[in-house]
Amino acid sequence: MSVWTYLSARISGVMEAVRKGNIPVTTATQPQHLYGLQFRCKACNAMRPDAQISVRSLDTSEANGMPAGTLKENFNYCNDRPACRETAQQWKGFLAK
Ligand SMILES: [Zn+2]
Repeated sequence: MSVWTYLSARISGVMEAVRKGNIPVTTATQPQHLYGLQFRCKACNAMRPDAQISVRSLDTSEANGMPAGTLKENFNYCNDRPACRETAQQWKGFLAK
């Protein structure tokens, strides 16, 4: 593996974590390869491995009277737990009154 390939893989891993809306505390102090990525499910509140967490992204800008693309929210959920998937599907994001 070239240095470039290695760095590209590392960067896309970090970008995926950022896209999901959080970087686990463990990676701030410990090497990622020792602990693996984990994310918190917003439905059941459990910390789960990266592979078991999916993310639903919503653009709630227009619903809140702002230009499209200015307010985006992510909802992490367990993709192997039907109850969490259902909660994610029902989630409407932030709506100002
Ligand atoms: Zn869950």
